[in-house]
Amino acid sequence: VSKKHAVELVNQLRRRGKRVTRERELLLRVIADNAHLDAEEIHRLARREHPQIGLATVYRTLNLLKELDLVTAVGLGEPHSHFELCAEDHIHLVCSTCGRVVDVPAPTAVRKVAEREGFCVHRVSAEISGTCRTCTSRQIKREKAGTT
Ligand SMILES: [Zn+2]
Ligand SMILES: [Zn+2]
Repeated sequence: VSKKHAVELVNQLRRRGKRVTRERELLLRVIADNAHLDAEEIHRLARREHPQIGLATVYRTLNLLKELDLVTAVGLGEPHSHFELCAEDHIHLVCSTCGRVVDVPAPTAVRKVAEREGFCVHRVSAEISGTCRTCTSRQIKREKAGTT
């Protein structure tokens, strides 16, 4: 599914008069396949296919893709950006124990409330921090083991 998506994004790049370089195409593919990576992780994956690609190129390309609204940068509880394709409105559940990120659909009510304020909504995104299912059950197990 993401493969098709990456092809569509490359076409958008072309339609908007941007050159489709090997680097741009590769980075779009990496982001399409792995949501929520930061620039260094994207760089690491991109180098598997294109060992000469530099971190500066990755940053430059990410900025361009962001300007074109092809990718979005989200913080996910960390000071640096993580990248994902511009998808439908969604909320990030970020586990503060293991760092796992789960996408859940944003309630449509959020958009409605903002629009009632006369606010033109481009995108709804939010981060909810907490403990994921795996970490919670691990914690419960540990507590149980502690009491016996
Ligand atoms: Zn967790
Ligand atoms: Zn996401």
